[in-house]
Amino acid sequence: MSGGRPREACGVVAVSGHPEAPQLVAEGLVALQHRGQESAGVAYRSRGGPIRLERGMGLVLEVFPGLVVPGEGSFAVGHVRYSTAGTSDLANAQPLLARTHLGPVALAHNGNLVESAPVAAAPPGPDASDTALVLAAVAESRAPSLEKALESVLAQARGGFAMAALGPDRLWAVRDPRGIRPLVLGRLEGGWALASETCALDAMGARTIRELEPGEFMTIEDGAAPRSRRLFPREAAAPCIFEAVYFARPDSLVAGSTVHALRRRMGGELAAEHPVDADVVLAVPDSSVSAAEGYAAALNLPLEQGLIRNRYLGRAFLEPDPLRRDARVRRKLAVIPSAVAGRRVVLVDDSIVRGTTARHLIGRMWEAGAREVHLRIAAPPYRHPCHYGVDTSRAQRLFAGERPDPSALARELLATSLGYLSLEGLVRAMGGGSHCTACFSGQYPVPVGVMAGATLA
Ligand code: 5GP
Ligand code: SF4
Ligand code: MG
Repeated sequence: MSGGRPREACGVVAVSGHPEAPQLVAEGLVALQHRGQESAGVAYRSRGGPIRLERGMGLVLEVFPGLVVPGEGSFAVGHVRYSTAGTSDLANAQPLLARTHLGPVALAHNGNLVESAPVAAAPPGPDASDTALVLAAVAESRAPSLEKALESVLAQARGGFAMAALGPDRLWAVRDPRGIRPLVLGRLEGGWALASETCALDAMGARTIRELEPGEFMTIEDGAAPRSRRLFPREAAAPCIFEAVYFARPDSLVAGSTVHALRRRMGGELAAEHPVDADVVLAVPDSSVSAAEGYAAALNLPLEQGLIRNRYLGRAFLEPDPLRRDARVRRKLAVIPSAVAGRRVVLVDDSIVRGTTARHLIGRMWEAGAREVHLRIAAPPYRHPCHYGVDTSRAQRLFAGERPDPSALARELLATSLGYLSLEGLVRAMGGGSHCTACFSGQYPVPVGVMAGATLA
């Protein structure tokens, strides 16, 4: 939450020019399910027909049983929404549909607007999401067309956002000026596809063409090649580095490498910075498996399966009550005692956010008879809140944010030792380049002084 408004860290998919666009979008959404499990939706239309919207709470397969979207169309946009505390209701499920004097428009959004976000004269209420704000501003626009209205509203937007919109006869897509949130373009037989990650393009049978440029505004009409224009002055790119650390699926491509390969390199860098003599390396599944492989390979240590993740839970990263958070980790991760008993164990995880997972798992390692428990984190300490669409918005809740000294962190977690990958090591693993690293470095690529919610108050 930011200023009481819902944040939107999510997955977006769009298809143009394909006779089964809604079904394809549902395929893409299932592939992005890791990016959001709270709600799912698809808006679609055939040429000349009305825009239809189907959305609901829950997983993609719960909202669309059998992955069937009831209806046909050649254009579609879809969305999976991330669960955030206190905002679980259908009104926040996307895409959102607005009927404006310029025509109907459905919008799917991943990210968060900050600072001079577009604010309509008659905003849709203090709890309105960014997405609703954008639509309200479009509805009030005096521009001559939906496309011009969207362009002029989005040109005022700042923050981290990737959006796909569906109008009467075309699709639009936009990526924020710094390219913080991801969006990729793919080619389908006879059409085009857009998605937050390439794994969704693969799932739809689309060939990955390229990432959208930071600040790119793209229009796709039926059957035609995409047209693009730049909505913002050119700025240094700052794609979210946490996509590669945690969010993205290992088979997705980020800047030309698979996320798996990037995480293996993070593990390798972590091993070089914090080696340890141990008997076994265990990954905290699923997100740290690639990093644990890289760590174990670099030190020539055996990697074993010692933790089993219950795949049927999903949901609720933000559990406000710490006791229930602990119960949730217990429910989610089981320990294989024979992989741990009598051994010097290295536990590799991708990140510590609130510290619940690490604290809990280290306790379980001792209970299972570990001789030593070394915690290795394949990213730097997560100290600063993200304001660009990832729900870690209150710094005081961040474990490393409250405790600057790593040896104090190790003591508090009851670990034999604790090693975090340095920011330099992380950037090296990414192959250099510029990124948003604000949650690690505190250097925000877009000023976050005035949140959009505050300007509405
Ligand atoms: P913690 O338990 O410290 O609050 O969270 C760290 C664990 O949650 C790690 O295992 C990491 O893989 C995972 N994690 C990190 N960031 C996120 C996030 O934004 N959402 C979810 N669901 N898990 C996260
Ligand atoms: Fe990504 Fe962190 Fe930047 Fe947020 S602050 S966009 S999570 S790198
Ligand atoms: Mg994890």
